[in-house]
Formats: sequence, structure tokens, C-alpha cells
Amino acid sequence: MIRQEAIMSEKNKTLLVIRAFIFFLFALVSTGLSQNVPAQNTQKNEPFAFTKVELSLLEQCDLLDRRFEKEGLVYTDEALNAYLAQIGKSIIPPGEPPEHVQWRFRVLRDPATNAFALPNGSIYLHSGILSSLENESQLAAVIGHEVAHVLGRHSYKENRSYRKKIAAINVIGTVARSVPGGGVASVIALGAASTARIFLTISIYHHSQDLEREADLFAAERLLDSNYDPKEMLALFKLLDRDYDVEQIEPFYSDHPKLQERIAYVDQLLKSKSPNAVSVESLAAARTRYLMMTEKISRHDIQLNFDNRRYRTALARSQKLVNFNPNSSENMCYLADSYRLLGPNTMEPTGEELSPDGRKKLLEMKRKLTPDEEERTRMETAAGQSAWKTNRADAEEQYRKALELDAYNAVAHRGLGMLYERMEKPQQAIEEYRKYLELKPDASDRMIIQRRLDALPLK
Ligand SMILES: [Zn+2]
Repeated sequence: MIRQEAIMSEKNKTLLVIRAFIFFLFALVSTGLSQNVPAQNTQKNEPFAFTKVELSLLEQCDLLDRRFEKEGLVYTDEALNAYLAQIGKSIIPPGEPPEHVQWRFRVLRDPATNAFALPNGSIYLHSGILSSLENESQLAAVIGHEVAHVLGRHSYKENRSYRKKIAAINVIGTVARSVPGGGVASVIALGAASTARIFLTISIYHHSQDLEREADLFAAERLLDSNYDPKEMLALFKLLDRDYDVEQIEPFYSDHPKLQERIAYVDQLLKSKSPNAVSVESLAAARTRYLMMTEKISRHDIQLNFDNRRYRTALARSQKLVNFNPNSSENMCYLADSYRLLGPNTMEPTGEELSPDGRKKLLEMKRKLTPDEEERTRMETAAGQSAWKTNRADAEEQYRKALELDAYNAVAHRGLGMLYERMEKPQQAIEEYRKYLELKPDASDRMIIQRRLDALPLK
């Protein structure tokens, strides 16, 4: 729930972004778009000549690192961080890091399925990507891709291009408005000095197709040379392309290579080389290790998905947790919560929701209506009613399973209380809420649940 406090109202956020954007345009005009770029080849393995402007942009990256912390966006789990650093070490080519690069691996509380690297060597993995990946090879591929952007000095190269800067300007507003929670995007839009904003936007959201391809191929080469399964890269692309809650917006993603294209060029590379022989057992152990290390952050990410009304994504993530660890009452409870919150939504997006008009309507509904209003609107349709009937049965079943695994799971009782309240079964809701408060007398939402309890009609 820390997250909720960090999120501004959509209206305020948009206003601030617009203001920041206008200020930024002025700054851009006054500083001039083209920098004094030394005429020098910036191919790999050759020293990169930093301009004065670039050195000051580098400082902005360090500032952004600190700002993510200050805004409470950095998720701290020492074991997980050590694990990420270890995978990083296995995929980064040996030797000293290049000038002005210090490798750091951090996790951001952000449910978008994304990862990015700042040119100073800070590699950020969103909780959303960690909760969606299936094994260690995929994680290594993601890290390898980001490492390539840093080693190739991609952000600096693109920042030297006028066309790229204009493209990034177009992206800034869209990103801040469309990214769930606005977390990373709003920190940049509101916090960064105006000249840095464009640079950071390029670094995080807007590498060109050519550079994305270069990063993909670098990652694939590294996987081929290490003890990972390079084919997992193809699975990774498909996984990143999944858009359960129909949120991907064109201008934001338009510069990414298309899925089929990415699969084709990586597949071609893989077929042209022979990978290291890695045993099935070692890959299975790495998979278990990955899922174990990310179980906690995945639960946290499911909560972020709930907060951002991404119920389908939450359901997929919870199902993944339950598949991995079916004996965890906590995991089962997240699955039950997902079904309950999915409410009148179908499990998969409908054909209408996937149409361009449907996408717009969905976004607007999220922007203009409160969660309750959105739910009421959906309940008015036959499809909504029918989805709710199925989802509430699934929710109840999973809550019961969670309680079979751990009879003292207070959260399962609270979930059941909420479910029965919505099903208009006040007597059962009262019983469940009472059990919750009994089992968790110091619950942070005690007052809220007590109020809900008091409002229910006693027989
Ligand atoms: Zn990239």
C-alpha cells in the first residue's frame, strides 16, 4: 500500500506532466538541439569520447538513481539483489567496466513488464518483469539485453541525433499518462532537469529498432557462451508481448522491433551457432532457483497489479505462483483475490476490447471511473454477469483451498468476507470478517474492516 501514496491522481499527474513538458520545450529551444559532437567513430571496443554535455547527463543518471530511492520505488531485498548481481556477473563479458560505468542491479516497484539500463550502468528490473519471467535463462537474456545498451553507449549515440530527440519528446507525455501507476515515467517527467529528461526517456523507453536488435543479438551471443538455454530468448519475446490488460499503446511501443521480427533474427543466429552443452538437470535447478528467489517480489507485484486494476495480469501471475508452490496458502490466497477482483471481467480480453476502439474505451474507463463505478458499468452487461458468476465460484474455491492449507490464514477470511459481501450474503460476510479481526487484531486495515462489518445488516 506504500505504492498507493506515491501515485498522484490522474488529473494532477497529467497537469504536472504538461507543465513540465512546456518548461522542457523552452529549455530545449534555449539550449539548442545540436551539441558539439566530436567527429569520432563510436564502435565497440573503442574509447568513447564524452562531451561536456554528456558528462553532465551522466550526473543526471546518478541523480535519478537516488530519486527512485527517495520516491520509494526501489524494492530492497538483499538476497534478491545479490542473486541479480550474480546473474549479471555471469552474463557481462569479463574485464573492467568501461569508463563511467558501474554495474548495479536494482528492482523497481512497477508492474509494467519492463527493464531498462541507465548509461551509468544501473540496471533496473521492474517487479513486473521479475514476476512474469519463467526461469534463469530468461532473466540472463533480459540482463544481457540491457548490458548491451550500456556497453554500446546507445543512449549517448541516440541523444546525439536530432530526429531521435524529437521522437523522444513525443513519447514523454504518452508514457507518463499510459504507464500503469506512472511510477518511473512520472519520476522522470517531474523530477529530472529539463535537458536530462529527453536523455533519460531515450535510455528507458526509446531505443531505435537497430539498437534494440543489436542488444537482442548481443544477449543471444552471451547466452550461447554461458550455461543458459539460448532458446529461452524466443520464449521471452513471446512473454513480453503478452498484454493481458490491453494496455500497450502505439507511440510508446512503435520503435520496438515487432515480435515476429525479433524471433526471426535471434532464431537465425541460434541456428548458425552451436550452444554450450547444458544439462537438463542444471537448467531445471536454475529454474527452481529463479522461482524461489522471486516468489516474494512476485507477491508484491501482484498487489501492485491489484492497485492498478490490472486484474488479468494479477491472475496470470498468481496462477504462476500457485503452479510453482501449490502448498503455499499465501499464494493460493493471491489467486483467490485475483478471481474476486476480476469480478465481471472475462479472464481473457474480449474481441471488442482488443479492437482499437475497444482499447481506447478501456483506457478511458480506467481514467474516468473509480474501481466501483467501473465494476457497476460492467455488471450491467450479460457478459459481465456471466463472468462474475464464474469468477466468484473460482474465488470461493481458492479461498477454501488456502484455508485448508493454513486454517489461520487471516487474509483468506478477509477475502471471503469481501466476496460474500458482494454476493449479498451478509451473515457469512460478518462471520468471515470477525474471523479476520480475531486472527489479526493488529491488522493495518482493522478500522476499514470494522466499518464494513458494522454496515452489514445483522439477522
Ligand atoms: Zn532495449
